[in-house]
Amino acid sequence: MIKVKTSEEIELMRESALVVSKTLGMLAKEVKPGVTTLYLDKLAEDFIREQNAIPGFLGLYDFPNTLCMSPNSQVVHGIPNDKPLIEGDIISIDCGAIKNGFYGDHAYTFAVGEIAAETQKLLDVTKQSLYEGIRQLKVGNRVGDVGFAIQNYCEKYGYGVVRELVGHGLGTTMHEDPEMPNYGKRGRGKKFIEGMVVAIEPMINLGTQKIRQHNDGWTITTLDNKPSAHFEHDVAIVNGKPELLSTFKYIYDALGISSNEEDEFRNV
Ligand code: MG
Ligand code: MG
Repeated sequence: MIKVKTSEEIELMRESALVVSKTLGMLAKEVKPGVTTLYLDKLAEDFIREQNAIPGFLGLYDFPNTLCMSPNSQVVHGIPNDKPLIEGDIISIDCGAIKNGFYGDHAYTFAVGEIAAETQKLLDVTKQSLYEGIRQLKVGNRVGDVGFAIQNYCEKYGYGVVRELVGHGLGTTMHEDPEMPNYGKRGRGKKFIEGMVVAIEPMINLGTQKIRQHNDGWTITTLDNKPSAHFEHDVAIVNGKPELLSTFKYIYDALGISSNEEDEFRNV
């Protein structure tokens, strides 16, 4: 059952998303060769608590940490460890936080120093596919319209679109209806309605779409060990249109990037 949010609830969810956005912005300055994902995880936990929020992943389904940290061929759900990042790595950081009882949940894939051109292309295309999907999140459309847009955009580049893991509704629980696959058929699936809040999160592989799960019960990697990228935003339907609750602005400020990619999804 889809739990529609009131405008007051959407404003609270914007605060929750903002905790995560600021946390990813803080981490953007810290991601560099030589740091460990466990160190970044501790920074994030402290930073979230300083904002009077609670780490959203810690303990959820027994996940052991604050961040899912998935380098290189890891798709999602990587567990932070004491292995230093090295020049040329990519690292997907997925962060959740609870504030005022509502979850924020979004993700960004960072380059560690200089990365290969084909890996940078994967990051650029995956992030753009997120916006292609978000653009379809409007009253009158259906779940399949978002999935189709993401899949169609990424497959043009020959990339693998992960099937087993999907986006989701978001609210007082981390995973609500509807499921939001990153593939699909136009005009199929549940209809979008005013006041929905969803997390859209393409997980896109440079090579095969196939994945495997590690023995730790969490880590997912690509079957061919080629890199995978993951970008996620929290989005509400307001006045029939997609409205971003999360922002990559803090990341871009930290990295000195100027971008207007989010402008069309701010309708308030
Ligand atoms: Mg997430
Ligand atoms: Mg999510």
